[in-house]
Amino acid sequence: MSHRAWVVTGEASPQHRLALVEREPPALAPDEVRLQVDVCGVCRTDLHLAAGELPAKRPLVAPGHEVVGRVVEVGAEVDDVTLGERLGVAWLRRTCGRCRWCRAGAENLCPRSTYTGWDADGGYAETVTVPAGYAYRIPDGFTDLEAAPLLCAGIIGYRSLRMANLPPGGRLGIYGFGASAHVTAQIAVAQGAELHVMTRGAGARDLALELGAASVGDAYDCPPVALDAAILFAPVGTLVPTALAALAAGGTLAVAGIHLSDVPVLDYQQHLFRERSLTSVTANTRADGDQLLTLAGRLHVRPRVTPYPFEGAAQALSDLEDGRVDGAAVLVLGASAGQSAGQV
Ligand SMILES: [Zn+2]
Ligand SMILES: [Zn+2]
Repeated sequence: MSHRAWVVTGEASPQHRLALVEREPPALAPDEVRLQVDVCGVCRTDLHLAAGELPAKRPLVAPGHEVVGRVVEVGAEVDDVTLGERLGVAWLRRTCGRCRWCRAGAENLCPRSTYTGWDADGGYAETVTVPAGYAYRIPDGFTDLEAAPLLCAGIIGYRSLRMANLPPGGRLGIYGFGASAHVTAQIAVAQGAELHVMTRGAGARDLALELGAASVGDAYDCPPVALDAAILFAPVGTLVPTALAALAAGGTLAVAGIHLSDVPVLDYQQHLFRERSLTSVTANTRADGDQLLTLAGRLHVRPRVTPYPFEGAAQALSDLEDGRVDGAAVLVLGASAGQSAGQV
């Protein structure tokens, strides 16, 4: 049985970076389950992949790593998943389990890790496979649409918040306010943080205020107070010195993205001295994912979602690129079956 999937073409033109094709779905390994995809979130990483900023690890790979679906096939070695069960698929697909990072609880740094929608086909498709040990059970309080952005935007934002070492009740700065930031902001505010948001979009600034930000400003504005911690969500390297300069002594800046434009030369006194720290955030562990899903349920996090039909994947990516998406874009499958393959 063939299925429809959006694939990365490798072409430079924004109109032809993705193509909708009909092809055989991936084979199922014994430790995997197959899901019928109900929804798949659209992440900035998909955009970096389609645009070639993140080189595809496989030709014509289907992107998408915020997948919610129902189990339709169970591999021979899987004994704790039932047909029809709702599961989530996230970015981290497999790790080796043997290297020193895996053994130390840092499987996000495993050199042999593979990723959904990069090494293996993701959820911009009618079906997807996932190793059962890397799938997530989603709390009942979330609809499929609400759950999708939690699976990458939520998880990576949560890890970024952890990496930023925000003290309890501390002052958190967020630079860039898209899908990941708006989930992270809700968690931070619910846990007592004082939130300051710097972002270029007026709509995003309004959303930040609605979610409890103490102040909002333009991307390069200085927040009204020195920050105990900051997270850079915008993939813009020139914001690194801006955010470092806004930190109080001892503060940490965590860079959340997998891709960042060039960072300018830093001045030691102005940007780093007084024990300010700068760290990247690299993927996540499964523990991060489990913690985020539990916490999001308990703290009543509500992702703001803009749905797109499955056929609108290319449009969703270009809207994301142009900053036109409110909250998180999510592809909705199901009612869209039966259309012929074509390039968009
Ligand atoms: Zn490993
Ligand atoms: Zn992602």
